[in-house]
Order: sequence, then C-alpha cells, then structure tokens
Amino acid sequence: MKIEQLSIPTPFYVGDVNVYLIKDDPLTLIDVGPKTDAAAKALKSELGRRGISFSDVRRIVLTHAHEDHCGLAKRVRDESKDAEIFVHDWETGHLFGRLAQDEHKSLLRRSGVPESIFDEMRDLYQEISLLTDPLGQSEYKKLEDDMELEFVSGSLRVLHTPGHTPGSCSFVREADRTLICGDCVLKRITPNPVVSLDPLDPAKRFRSLAEYLVSLARLRSFSPTLAYGGHGEAVTDFDEIFHRYVRAIDERQKKVVSLATGDGTTAFEVAKALFPDSFDHDVHRFLAISESIAHLDYAEGEGKVSVETSDGVEYYRPV
Ligand SMILES: [Zn+2]
Ligand SMILES: [Zn+2]
Repeated sequence: MKIEQLSIPTPFYVGDVNVYLIKDDPLTLIDVGPKTDAAAKALKSELGRRGISFSDVRRIVLTHAHEDHCGLAKRVRDESKDAEIFVHDWETGHLFGRLAQDEHKSLLRRSGVPESIFDEMRDLYQEISLLTDPLGQSEYKKLEDDMELEFVSGSLRVLHTPGHTPGSCSFVREADRTLICGDCVLKRITPNPVVSLDPLDPAKRFRSLAEYLVSLARLRSFSPTLAYGGHGEAVTDFDEIFHRYVRAIDERQKKVVSLATGDGTTAFEVAKALFPDSFDHDVHRFLAISESIAHLDYAEGEGKVSVETSDGVEYYRPV
C-alpha cells in the first residue's frame, strides 16, 4: 500500500497543496486540490505519469473541506466511473460558502467585527467558494472516527482530529505508524484554528484551539514515524514539531491575554493588535480574527480572561 505525494498548485498564499495517491485497490486519492484549470491539469498529468487517469479513481477521501483540498472532488468523481467521496459530516465548506450563513454574521459580530468589514470578508469568501463544487448530502459518505478504509493490501484508520476545522480527519497506517493529517500538522507553519460554528449547535462557536490541542496529543500518541501534511514536505520528527507548536501556542496565549484590557477588548481589536501589518490584506484578516477568537476562547476556558457581552458584542478583560 504505497502512499505517493503529489504537489498541486493553488491560487492561495499557502502555495501548493499535497494530494496523496494510494495505488492499491480501490485506487484512492486523499484530497484532490482546488477547482482551477491549473490544478486539474496538474493532477491529471501527475496521475498520467503513473499510468493513471481520473477514470481509474475509485475513492476520494477529504481531510477537510477547504477549497484548496476538496475543490476538484466532484469533477474527478464525475470523470471516474463510480468513485465514492468520503468526508466528515462536520465539514460544511463543501456545502456552502464559509461565511454565507446568518449565523456566521452574528458569530463575527459578537467578536466586534464591524458590519462593513464582515461584508468585505463574506464577498471575498464567496469568490473563494467558487474554487469548489458543493456536494449534496447524498453525494458523499461520512468519515467516522475509528472506521477503517480497507485496501487489498492493508488499511488506514480514520482519526477524527478537529481543530483546524470541526470535521478535519487524519489517517493512520498502524503497521508503520505513518500519518496523513491534512492541515492538522504542517512542517513550516503552525496550523490556524479557523473560526467555525459549532456543528452540533450553530448558535455557538466551535472551541477550535482546545479541540486542536487534544487532536495533536492524540496524533502524538501513535508515536508517528512519518506525518504527511496538507502542504509542504512530510514531518519526520513529530515530537520536535509537537513541542514547537505547543511553544508557539503558549507564546501566542500570553500575548493575547496581555492585550485584554480593564476596559474590555474585543476579539477584533486583539486581532488588529496581533497582526498590524497583514490586517488589511483580504484573507489574512479573516485568519487573524480566527486566531484571536480561538485564543480568547481558550484563555477564557483556562480562567485567564473573563468575558462579558454588551449589546451583542463580547468584551474580554484580564482576570
Ligand atoms: Zn485547511
Ligand atoms: Zn490547506
């Protein structure tokens, strides 16, 4: 059961995305790349060099539903004869745009995001959402924690590893402790816990950083020898990266907590203070706000800040 890493271009700042080909029966792709002509062409030619065409693909498994990973799923499925698509039910990016629901608006309003800035971000994500085809409920099968993806010569166990998104999944081949973990573990960047609605209660937000830390510890418990991420090269020293992430998160926590003032500070104000340079740049602004919300939620859970809601907006204060 050989795992091959294919590099596919994306129009995003992050650069290429990794698609994993499992050349076994059933022939499987883990992630597929964004819905752009350049990505489709690259995927076709990467597979072609290995004697494979889209029509040979039998199974498409998505680590999560961000456009750079899932965009081409429907197109590959349509060109194959009967490929099945698998994604965790808590992912919604493939169903509708990331900020398209009313709940998203109130979620960001609570964080102090002005309406005009929310509208700009929503328009941007509307454009980005064109880089994937939405999948109807009947068009995919659910990935579930602990289920096995069987192959003729082995299997991959599904690990639900929420954090980066609520439905992010990783896959472990226990025989040699190899992981495929999407954007949960990336060699060169600390993954961003993206602000999301709680999949079980959309009136709440998903506690992305707390969930992420649990997922990271769970992945570490496998003592991985190799971890294939969604971007960049594979991680060979999992412990080193684990400690690096934990240190970076700890430093960011301290910084975020220090930005909460006695008068009360919103997540939006914290984001501006954290990333003064990148704040006016399109997608970075949403990621900066995500990061500050994730950290403030975590700090509140740890009792380092308190939160009070006034006129629908949450204000954080040091404890
Ligand atoms: Zn992602
Ligand atoms: Zn990604």
